[in-house]
Amino acid sequence: MHELVNGLAHLCSLRDRDALDHALVALLVQTGQGRVDKVRLLRVLGDADDLHCLTRAERQYGVPESERRAGWLDWPDLPALSAQPALVQAHRSGKLVQLAGTPCLTVLPLGNGPACMNLLEFSSAQPLSDDIFGTLQGIARLYQNFEGLLDYGEKDALTELLNRKTFDGAFAKAAIQHVAPQTEQPADRRVMPSEEGFWLAVLDIDFFKRVNDNYGHLIGDEVLLLMARLMRAHFRFQDQLYRFGGEEFVILMRCANPLDAAGALERFRTTVEAYEFPQVGKITVSIGFAALRDDDTPGGAFDRADKAVYYAKGHGRNQVRSYQSLIDAGELSEESDDANEIDFF
Ligand code: GH3
Ligand code: MG
Ligand code: MG
Repeated sequence: MHELVNGLAHLCSLRDRDALDHALVALLVQTGQGRVDKVRLLRVLGDADDLHCLTRAERQYGVPESERRAGWLDWPDLPALSAQPALVQAHRSGKLVQLAGTPCLTVLPLGNGPACMNLLEFSSAQPLSDDIFGTLQGIARLYQNFEGLLDYGEKDALTELLNRKTFDGAFAKAAIQHVAPQTEQPADRRVMPSEEGFWLAVLDIDFFKRVNDNYGHLIGDEVLLLMARLMRAHFRFQDQLYRFGGEEFVILMRCANPLDAAGALERFRTTVEAYEFPQVGKITVSIGFAALRDDDTPGGAFDRADKAVYYAKGHGRNQVRSYQSLIDAGELSEESDDANEIDFF
């Protein structure tokens, strides 16, 4: 009993999502006392007719935790959900699924209703007893409640993107991976590891004040919400999307090279340009981006990307600008705040 209570206390002491997910599967396997062979925490990703499944954490009974890998995959590269009938059923119904077989599979959706995105899968030699499964379900409920609390503190209430407060921590994690790239081959072997790194982009809606002035704050809020949806649909699931405040967004993305980063941002700019916002019509965005550097700080990287946005604002808006390209072209200089001298109006 005390092991379980200590395990729960440990779970609730964690703030990092990866650490939390790994602690959850470890606690579930431990609580299964040998009757649960394996636990996987999975996330369903992709389009409704092409769903895939990402293993967020996995633990096998009696096997020490393996080295964690921050994989770099696009969702189409992940295993298809359709190959795993128990997962398909649990995802579709949002209800508990138990499949007898070797092994027995018990899939518990974490969330309410159908199309549940997070699933817990238990593999066992025998069907799990009500007693054991009741305890495992209780742990899962506590995890969900705790995750909800973390979301409340870390996500922007309107758009549900990450908020500014969580940026520093995520940046520190990215900076560590940036400085010490993984030794193993990336999933996509076309990638040139030498150029691989993280990029930070700042995105600012053009003339957003006019939206509020012409259509009111509620419609303005809806535009922000739709912008966040477009971002979620466009960028990779591992890219981190933030609302920094007002009509300013930040994207922390891992890319193979500067051209890939510029390409992804340019495609997003054209997506926004082509989108018909209800009532408001067309809206455009200005985007500036900069590569993370060794020994970078969140403020330093943000400032560089922000200078590139500022430049875009002063040169016609509705464009993507790279800080490095502006430096190389002599449009900005590292030392001075050239961009601040641009006259906007
Ligand atoms: P620019 O192209 O130079 O970026 O012009 P802009 O009008 O987008 O920029 P400006 O900074 O002048 O105005 C930003 C506006 O964003 C002002 C403010 O009313 C609005 N705003 C900030 N936060 C919110 C919000 O949460 N909801 C709504 N509806 N509007 C917001
Ligand atoms: Mg703006
Ligand atoms: Mg702004």
